[in-house]
Amino acid sequence: MANQVSDKGKGSIVPHVDDIKLYINGDFVESESRGTFANVNPYTNNVINQVSEGREEDIKKAVNAARKAFTEGPWGKMKVSERMKYINRIADIIDHEIEKIAVLEALDTGLPISQTKNMTARAAENFRFYARMVETRFHGEAYQVDDEFINYTIYKPLGVVGLITPWNAPFMLETWKVAPALATGNTVVLKPAELSPLSANILAEVIQKAGLPKGVFNVVHGYGETAGASLVAHPEVRAVSFTGETATGSIIIKNAADTLKKTSMELGGKSPLILFDDADFERALDAAVWGLFSFNGERCTANSRVLVHKDIKARFISALKERISCIRMGDPMDPVTELGPLIEREHFNKVNNYIELARKEGCDVVQAPLPENLSAGNFVPPTLLLEARNDMKVCQEEIFGPVMAVMEFETEDQAIATANDVKYGLAGYVWTNDVKRGHRVAQAVEAGMLWINAQNVRDLRIPFGGTKSSGIGREGGHYALFEFYTEPKVIHVAIGDHHIPRFGLNKSQ
Ligand code: NAD
Repeated sequence: MANQVSDKGKGSIVPHVDDIKLYINGDFVESESRGTFANVNPYTNNVINQVSEGREEDIKKAVNAARKAFTEGPWGKMKVSERMKYINRIADIIDHEIEKIAVLEALDTGLPISQTKNMTARAAENFRFYARMVETRFHGEAYQVDDEFINYTIYKPLGVVGLITPWNAPFMLETWKVAPALATGNTVVLKPAELSPLSANILAEVIQKAGLPKGVFNVVHGYGETAGASLVAHPEVRAVSFTGETATGSIIIKNAADTLKKTSMELGGKSPLILFDDADFERALDAAVWGLFSFNGERCTANSRVLVHKDIKARFISALKERISCIRMGDPMDPVTELGPLIEREHFNKVNNYIELARKEGCDVVQAPLPENLSAGNFVPPTLLLEARNDMKVCQEEIFGPVMAVMEFETEDQAIATANDVKYGLAGYVWTNDVKRGHRVAQAVEAGMLWINAQNVRDLRIPFGGTKSSGIGREGGHYALFEFYTEPKVIHVAIGDHHIPRFGLNKSQ
C-alpha cells in the first residue's frame, strides 16, 4: 500500500500511500457504487488518499464470502495445529513489517511513531497469544453422572462475526478482535473506523500473504450509519464485537436485537486515578502523566480524572505543570515526539469546546503553549483543569483528548464516592503504600479494571472491559474464547442403562 517511504531529513518520514479498496473474498476490490471518501492526515489536514466506500451491497458480498468460507471452506474444519500455523504466520509477517505498519499508523492517526511501534508489536503478540490460548486452554468440560452418563461440552465457532472498531489505536484494536475470532475458527467481516482506515488494509495484505483461505477475512470500509449498520443488521452475522463510543454501542445493541445477535461492547471511560499522600510520589506522577497524555489523550482507559489528597495537592499540581510544559509536541513521524495531533478537525473542535466549557464551569485551565509551526495540525496542547469539581460536565463526560481534570479529596470514603459518581466504569488507578487501603479502594471503585501502584500495564490473560456505561462483556484471555467467539454445545452420553419412561404401551384404550 505504501509504495514509497522517503526519509526527508531529521526524523520526518513522508510515505506516499495509494488509494485503498475493500478486501472481499481474498481480493482487493472497488465498492459496488465506486464511491470513495477522503482520508485526511491529522498533522497537515491534507488528504492522504482515497478510500473505497462500502455500503449495504458490499457488506452483503463480504458476508456472503465469509459465510461460504465458513460452511464450505477448510477454515473451521482444519486441524487446530494447522490453523494455528496460519495465525502464527500472521504474527511473523507483522513483526517483519513493523516499521512500515508503525509509520502508516502514525500517518493515519497522528499518534507518535514511538507509540505506534509498541502498539504494532502488541498486534503481533495478539495473534501469538491467541494461538497459544487455543492450543493449550481451549477445551470443554466433562460431567459424570454416577455410572449412567458422561455429559461433555465442546465449544463451536459461531460462524460469520462482524467486528467494528474505532480510530484510536486501530491496528492494535483490530487485531485484538481478529486474532481470537480467527483462532477459534470463525470467519470475519471487519468494518474499521472511517477516520483511520489504513491499517485494516495492511492487515488484509498480511493475511493475504499468510495464505489464509479466501473469504475467511474481509474488510469493508465505510461510514458507521451505512456500512456499520448493514453489518449489524445482516441476518447471517452471528455476533458483533464493537469498540467505540457508549452512544454508538447503545444503537448497535438496539439494532442487533432485530436479528438476535450476540454483542460485545467495549465503550468509553472517565477513569479516576486516586493518589494518596503516602504514595510513591514520583512514580505516581509518571503514571498520571503517561496515562493521560500518551496516545494523544485518545485512550479509553486514560486517567482523565485525577483525585489527589489535599496534603500533597499543591506539590502534585506544581509537578504536573512542570511536566506538561515539557511534553514534546510535534510531527508524529519524529521519534522524539510525545504528543501528536488529534485525529480530525471535528474532534479537535470538540476537545477545545470542552476546554472552553471548563473555563465557564469555573476551572482554572492551565495549558502548555502550542509551538507556532504546528498550527496546520489538530494539536491540543497538554491541558490541566484545576479546581475541577466532579459534578462539572468536564468531569462527567468523556473528552478523549490531552485534558486532565484534577480534584482534591480529604478522606478515603470521599475519594471512593467521587470516583464512582460518574456513569462510566472502565478503569481506575490507586496509588498508596498502605497495602490494605490499596485493596480496599480498588475493590470499592466501580470499574472493570483497577491497577494499584501501576500504570495501565496489560496482561492479556485477564479480562479486559468495563462496567456501567463502559461496556458489556469482556475481551482477553479465555473470556474472548469461551464467552464470545464460540458457543458451548453439550453432548449427553449414556454409559449405563438409565431409566427411560415407557409411553404408548396401554392397548385397552
Ligand atoms: P464511534 O462509536 O464513533 O465509532 C466506532 C466505530 O463504530 C466506527 O467504525 C464507526 O464507523 C462505527 N459506527 C458508528 N455508528 C455506527 C452504527 N450506527 N452502526 C454500526 N457501526 C457504527 O467511536 P470512535 O469515535 O471511533 O472511538 C472513540 C471511542 O471508543 C471512545 O469513546 C473510546 O473510549 C472508545 N474506546 C473504547 C475502548 C475500550 O476497550 N473500552 C477502546 C478504545 C476506544
